Amino acid sequence: MRVNTTIQGRKINSKGIWTPVVVLDPGHTGVVAGGYEPLGPGSSEMKAKDTSGTEGIATGVAEYQLTLKVAKQLSTALKKQGCKVVMTRTNSKNPLSCIQRAKAANKAKADAYLRIHANGNSNSSINGAMTICVTKNNRFVSSKLYKTVHIKAPDFGCSAFTLQEADGNVLMGRNYDFKRDTSAMLVYCEPKGGYKSVAFAALDNISANTPDASMKKKLATLTAPFICLDGMNEKGVSIAVLTLDSEPVHQNTGKPVIGTTLVIRLILDRAATTEEAVELLNQYDMFATSGRDCPSEKLG
Ligand SMILES: [Zn+2]
Repeated sequence: MRVNTTIQGRKINSKGIWTPVVVLDPGHTGVVAGGYEPLGPGSSEMKAKDTSGTEGIATGVAEYQLTLKVAKQLSTALKKQGCKVVMTRTNSKNPLSCIQRAKAANKAKADAYLRIHANGNSNSSINGAMTICVTKNNRFVSSKLYKTVHIKAPDFGCSAFTLQEADGNVLMGRNYDFKRDTSAMLVYCEPKGGYKSVAFAALDNISANTPDASMKKKLATLTAPFICLDGMNEKGVSIAVLTLDSEPVHQNTGKPVIGTTLVIRLILDRAATTEEAVELLNQYDMFATSGRDCPSEKLG
């Protein structure tokens, strides 16, 4: 169920896509707008509508030329990422005051409004970048814009995903969200009569974060194929065990009992499809095994 179907007055389409609008404002322009305008909404303080800007000491390039060039490149990059981009100017022929620029952003219902400038200094050895953003102290911005957002973050949030590329390749990603750092060992398996797979074993779970430290730790890593927390086999079946803020799995229906890390080995070795994986899981009662300092886990 989708709770919000509009954000900022714009609809999320049927595919669940909402397009952010970015307004880019390349600073200054070729024809300086003459005269003055209020410093901010409702202000009696006046400032110049625009200035000529600066220019490159070595290059002689005017700021308005550079900012337009940068904005056009940024526009291309943002569009590639799915943004709608509105420019306050696409050439340098017309004068443009700050108020006109701000109005263009409001009209476009901008989610982000980026004003691009280049600073000048007579010392050509100086370089760097400066970002200015609106803060609570800005007297022209309504305090309503600064709502406090409370998010209840879970204590644990391992995550995993899998995706299929257009050419059929399957990719898998996962993050560990454990209290302690862990070394991860990449485990390749080629079981007789089973599927080849690649998986990760979190070595902290067998107290072997530094396997080379002792013979005992080295030997402990021999159990790696049976303590994996995630992996994918040659059929593209992937599986991960996630530490989440919920009760640990402990099924009890009288079936043979199996731990989660062994389930991962079983699925990777024997399942060619998700259906086959579920079928295999149905034959067992599963209980959480991995992670001594993981209070809970769930099969994801
Ligand atoms: Zn400027």
